[in-house]
Amino acid sequence: MRSKMLLLSEDTREQQKKAVQQQPQEKEAFYGQSNIETFKMKNMDQMKNTVGKARAAFNSRKACSLEFRKQQLQALRRLLTENEDRIADALHKDLNKNKLDTQVFEIMGLEGEIALLLEKLTEWAAPRPVERNLLTLMDEVYIQPEPLGVVLIIGAWNYPFLISLQPLLGAIAAGNAVVLKPSEVSENSAALIKELIPKYLDKDLYQVVCGGVAETTELLKEKFDHIMYTGNSTVGKIVMEAAAKHLTPVTLELGGKSPCYIDKNVDIDTVCRRIAWGKFTNCGQTCIAPDYILCDKSIHEKVIERLKETIKEFYGEDPKKSPDYCRIINTHHFKRILSLLEGSKVTYGGQYDEASCYIAPTILTDVSPTSKVMKEEIFGPLLPILTVNNVDEAIQFINQRDKPLALYAFCHDKKVLKKIVAETSSGGVTANDTMIHFTISTLPFGGVGNSGMGAYHGKFSFDTFSHHRACLIKSLKMETVNKVRYPPGSPEKVKWIKRLITKQVNFGKLGLVFIGLLGALLAVLMKNGRMQLRRNMFLLICAVQNLSRK
Ligand code: NAD
Repeated sequence: MRSKMLLLSEDTREQQKKAVQQQPQEKEAFYGQSNIETFKMKNMDQMKNTVGKARAAFNSRKACSLEFRKQQLQALRRLLTENEDRIADALHKDLNKNKLDTQVFEIMGLEGEIALLLEKLTEWAAPRPVERNLLTLMDEVYIQPEPLGVVLIIGAWNYPFLISLQPLLGAIAAGNAVVLKPSEVSENSAALIKELIPKYLDKDLYQVVCGGVAETTELLKEKFDHIMYTGNSTVGKIVMEAAAKHLTPVTLELGGKSPCYIDKNVDIDTVCRRIAWGKFTNCGQTCIAPDYILCDKSIHEKVIERLKETIKEFYGEDPKKSPDYCRIINTHHFKRILSLLEGSKVTYGGQYDEASCYIAPTILTDVSPTSKVMKEEIFGPLLPILTVNNVDEAIQFINQRDKPLALYAFCHDKKVLKKIVAETSSGGVTANDTMIHFTISTLPFGGVGNSGMGAYHGKFSFDTFSHHRACLIKSLKMETVNKVRYPPGSPEKVKWIKRLITKQVNFGKLGLVFIGLLGALLAVLMKNGRMQLRRNMFLLICAVQNLSRK
């Protein structure tokens, strides 16, 4: 018998979607108890099948080939170029994003990452020789990056393509199978990802699951080899708890309140432009947007005036009419952001329209450090400005709170900037600008403390999705040298072992020649008697010590 849910018409889809996200009683009223059970069972089976399929594909070892991985990365590049308009359209529907922002904030970053991975993959995936000690001098000792297995990637809605696909690129490059769960909140983008990925990538290795809390909860019951989650820290804890049941490692890309300090010694025009860009891009829905300003008291008024001017310069007198200004993702977040206004003075902006989820760029003053807007991440276009007397007060303010994802400081004096970097902690820090550390693939992107754990981008992505296997390949020859570690023990043997194990050897350029000579020498030594061997070993160690000191 088909369940009531399966008989729902197209018209009731919207209603159905809402019901799935509602409270259990409401769900029950909508579906009926037995239908909820059917729904859960169906979900469970579906998730099991999806993960099982990905695991079987991983076990087939087809992703071991670097050529195969490169082909998949090239296919993803084609996905982006051939579907640019559809991607822009989905982002416009979800967030009112314009084409420029789609290019700059979603597509270009992915294309850059693909180019980098294609260029560097062979080098990064190769064995990485490491220093040895004297005991392992003749052995092959190296780190071999190897794929982890099946990786779950859970995306967030604010940059739906970038946040879902950038980790996917790293996981593919490292040779994993992937189950990708884009955010259901940016529904048009999620649907497009679900449609396009199987058209371009291997259908078994890379699976896309769409859905919300119910589906993600079921997915999290399955065993993965790594989970990468992007989103808020409350759900981050749920993800980590579920991962702990299988001892699955996690990367958590979370958020937080990223502070922005403005020293008195700055060019206010430039500073306000750079801050306004970071804050109001994507309507403030950026994990590394400056959350609030800590401004030196002496320039407070000027900063407010200049920020107002900059907002007009960027978005005109009425930002609602600007094609460059986004919208809040949904009414839930719209209401959440408006509720943060409580207890603070709106000095500029403050207009809103629920029907279109519009909230104007808004400047808040007379903000108490204990007010509602200072208690949680804003993730919207409200910019509170607080004042401080000096840089030490700003540092103290920052350090009294959770470690943020990003930290911004504006000041001409490099010493002051270095002091801020030295005396605070955050996922990343940019001085005299906002957000751009994100664009540098040689920098790790990730949080610390409450803003997350682990990092990705460029080689950090490759390493995040790889196991770094410690490899030592020894020969069965030269047992005489090894005898020093076998019982029966003696104080003399301990002394020898200590020397052999604690001394690191780095051969540098002379490496190969030296190893050859050493091999020959050891062969000669092995023919000699025990006393002679000890004497020669001593001379050998002295020689190596001298060499490695050079
Ligand atoms: P969201 O609502 O899209 O949730 C993220 C993911 O979690 C979604 O895929 C969703 O299905 C899943 N999810 C939600 N509730 C769940 C539950 N109870 N159990 C299991 N899964 C669940 O996104 P969000 O959390 O609103 O995203 C905004 C937050 O993400 C902000 O804090 C922002 O700073 C942070 N963020 C961080 C980064 C980063 O790179 N560090 C990037 C973007 C956003």
